[in-house]
Amino acid sequence: TAVKDGDEWVINGHKIMTSNGRVADFLVVMCRTEDDDSGNANLKMTQIIVPTDSPGLERIRSVPIWGHTGGDHMEIKYKDVRVPLENALGARGSGHQAAQDRLGAGRVYHCMNTIGQMWRAFDIMVKYSTQREVHGGKLETKQFIQGFIADSYIDIQAARLMTIHCAEVMDKGGNSRVDISAIKIFVPEAGSRVVDRAIQMHGWRGVSSDLPLAGMFQGFRTLRLADGPDEVHRILIAKQILKRYHDGLSWDFGV
Ligand SMILES: Cc1cc2nc3c(=O)[nH]c(=O)nc-3n(C[C@H](O)[C@H](O)[C@H](O)COP(=O)(O)OP(=O)(O)OC[C@H]3O[C@@H](n4cnc5c(N)ncnc54)[C@H](O)[C@@H]3O)c2cc1C
Repeated sequence: TAVKDGDEWVINGHKIMTSNGRVADFLVVMCRTEDDDSGNANLKMTQIIVPTDSPGLERIRSVPIWGHTGGDHMEIKYKDVRVPLENALGARGSGHQAAQDRLGAGRVYHCMNTIGQMWRAFDIMVKYSTQREVHGGKLETKQFIQGFIADSYIDIQAARLMTIHCAEVMDKGGNSRVDISAIKIFVPEAGSRVVDRAIQMHGWRGVSSDLPLAGMFQGFRTLRLADGPDEVHRILIAKQILKRYHDGLSWDFGV
C-alpha cells in the first residue's frame, strides 16, 4: 500500500518476484492507493517510482530459479519507505490500466523472442538429423524423426502467424486482448514442444550445456507463469468471447 502523508507517499509491502531488482537504481512499484472497498478493484492501484537506495527498502534475497543462485529476481520489503508525491506515474488509480497497456506489447515481444529461439532449435535439430547415424541410417531417414521435424514446422509457423496477426491488430488500434492472451499461452507451449523434440533427438547432448536447448526449455516453461499464469489468460479469452455471444454477436476470426 501507499498512503499520502503531506507531500510524500509512505509505502509498505513485501514483493517476492522483482526482476532486475538487484541491479536497478529505481523500481516501479504497483501500490494500492485507494482504500475504500467500493468500486472497480482495477482503479485502486497507482504505480510509484521508488529509488532502491530509499531508507526502509530492503533487498531480502535473490530467489533461486531452476537451481541457479545469485540471479536477479529479488525478494524486497518496503517498510515506511517515503518518496515525493510526484513519483507517482500518471493519475492516481491508473496503475493497473497502465500495466496492462505495457504488458500487451511486452507479451508480443516475449513471443517474438520465443519464436526466434524455436527457429534456432529447429535449425539445430534438422541439421543434426542429416548428420547423426543410428541403427543403420541417418536420423533423417527415421519416420519418428521426420514426425519431429514436421510437427515442429507446424508449431513454429502457427506461433509466428498468430503473433504477426496479434501485432497487426494492435497496430491498427483494434481490440487485441484475446489475441494477446492467445499468443501468451500458445507460443511458449509450442516452444516447449519444439525444444522437447530437439532435446530428444540429440540424446545426452540435448540436456547438456553444450547446446542452448536446456536453457530454452527452462525459459519457455517459466513464461507459462511470468506475466500472469496461462489459466488466467484462458479465463480472459473465454470471458471476452462469451460476452460477444451474450450481446447477440458472434466471434469473427477474420478481423
Ligand atoms: C522468473 C519470474 C520473474 C518474475 N518477475 C516478476 C516481476 O518482475 N514483477 C512482478 O510483478 N512479478 C514477477 N513475477 C511474478 C509472476 O507474474 C507471477 O508468478 C504470476 O503472475 C503468477 O502469480 P503467483 O506466482 O502469485 O501465482 P498464484 O496467483 O498464486 O497462482 C498459482 C497458480 O494457481 C493457478 N491459478 C491462479 N489463478 C487462477 C485462476 N483464476 N483460475 C485457475 N487457476 C488459477 C495457476 O496455475 C497459477 O500458476 C515473476 C515470475 C517469475 C517466474
